[in-house]
Amino acid sequence: MPMREEIRQKYRVVIGLEVHAQLLTSSKIFSAEPSSFGASPNTQVGVITLAHPGTLPKLNKRAFELAIKMGLACKSEISRHNIFDRKNYFYPDLPKGYQITQDRTPVCKGGLVTIKTKDGVVRDVKLNRIHLEEDAGKSIHTDGPDTFIDLNRAGVALIEIVTEPDMSTADEASAFVTEVRKLVRYLDICDGNMEEGSLRCDANVSIMLKDATVFGKKVEIKNMNSIRNVQRAINVELERQIELAEKGEAIVSETRTYDADKDKTFGMREKEELNDYRYFPDPDLSPVIVSDEWLKQIKQTMPALPQELFNKFVSEYKLSEYDANVLTDSKDIALYVDAVCSHTKNYKAAANWMMGPVKSWLNENQKSADQFPIKPQGLAEIIELIDAGKLNFTVASQRLFPAMVQNPQTPVLQLVEQLGLSQQSDQNSILPIIEEVLKAFPEEVKQFKKGKDALIGMFMGEVMKRSQGKADPKTTKDLLVNKLKEV
Ligand code: ADP
Ligand code: MG
Repeated sequence: MPMREEIRQKYRVVIGLEVHAQLLTSSKIFSAEPSSFGASPNTQVGVITLAHPGTLPKLNKRAFELAIKMGLACKSEISRHNIFDRKNYFYPDLPKGYQITQDRTPVCKGGLVTIKTKDGVVRDVKLNRIHLEEDAGKSIHTDGPDTFIDLNRAGVALIEIVTEPDMSTADEASAFVTEVRKLVRYLDICDGNMEEGSLRCDANVSIMLKDATVFGKKVEIKNMNSIRNVQRAINVELERQIELAEKGEAIVSETRTYDADKDKTFGMREKEELNDYRYFPDPDLSPVIVSDEWLKQIKQTMPALPQELFNKFVSEYKLSEYDANVLTDSKDIALYVDAVCSHTKNYKAAANWMMGPVKSWLNENQKSADQFPIKPQGLAEIIELIDAGKLNFTVASQRLFPAMVQNPQTPVLQLVEQLGLSQQSDQNSILPIIEEVLKAFPEEVKQFKKGKDALIGMFMGEVMKRSQGKADPKTTKDLLVNKLKEV
């Protein structure tokens, strides 16, 4: 049963997230072993991951650069002097017995991510840090006594984005993950796929009475494989904590796992204070110095970010915030529309074509906008033809558009010509059709004369049909009105 609102209102909710993103590098963070997803177990494993004596890690420079890109996108401070640390723990998924991570010198310090919640509230969520680390392997538990280990993932490059305890609703948390996923995809640093685990989110959740001055004990929830589940998990965990508090029971600091089928969290292990990871700088890796020169080079590779494109769409193209939001949701679509808008001034039409015919085609064919056969310039040409009265929208979207998708190389005007789609706005071609229609519907003409004005629509429809949509509606209407006066 959902908790009564008054009870919920007694508590202040505190949420902090830790998001791991697998970086899109072809090899692991400290070795040349491949890092692609979905390979047969233990086929992407070499001597470094297996921790053979005498082997040494070597930093993947690209992974480092991708982490800096994320930091720049989040307005973090980029650390100039970076050290990698060993986090010691024993677990079968990590043969070395320690994970290489960054403890005291995260590559990015502070920063923020601007989120937009479902209610339309826009706010900045403060980041504590973004650091680089290697992933661990995967333990595969079976129903029987066996546990299998797949080390393909061990050593894969990750960034961990750690927020301040700065959110207070599950809605904000899911908006945060949504925004981070959008950012990493725009930056092309992670595929953002939560089902495959390339983007993972741990949620830290605590409650405190509204007038309390110290945070409550936090519980860390793991294993949420979708944004929806991040939201659900936080909400059920909050209910559980509030129920305990209401009964006067203590909330223990622990790690819990979310079971989406049961929609419940379950305790895994009591943690944190008990752990001693004995962090110390990894003596096998030298410090990484980020020079002005290097940072400048990385800045030059930064793509346009969703927020920047959103602002451009609203202020320069005068699109509504709603349209701008939909169009910047994914990078391929945003860039396509932006390109169309560099070829036409009718920005609203560009947006409508994108959200209408183009998006339907992309969905049906499961393609992204950068794979769309019609070049932005071609779409702009259709828009111009319509605006010039040479084509009407229905004919353009139903006949020209499919033909262009099939023959993207053929010049637009040539296709219009070949298909005979050019709109007739000259009286000589439209008048005979009007006369034909009026002759075919004598009864309706009489009715119209008696004052049934609405019949004009029927006559218009008939003329359009008989001209196969090519008659220019405005000319047709003027001629029709005149003709009806005459008969
Ligand atoms: P730990 O030492 O347990 O790793 P950190 O201080 O590093 O804890 O924080 C880990 C995450 O937990 C961060 O995202 C932080 O925002 C969040 N967090 C810290 N304290 C709380 C709290 N009382 N309630 C909710 N989240 C918290
Ligand atoms: Mg910590």
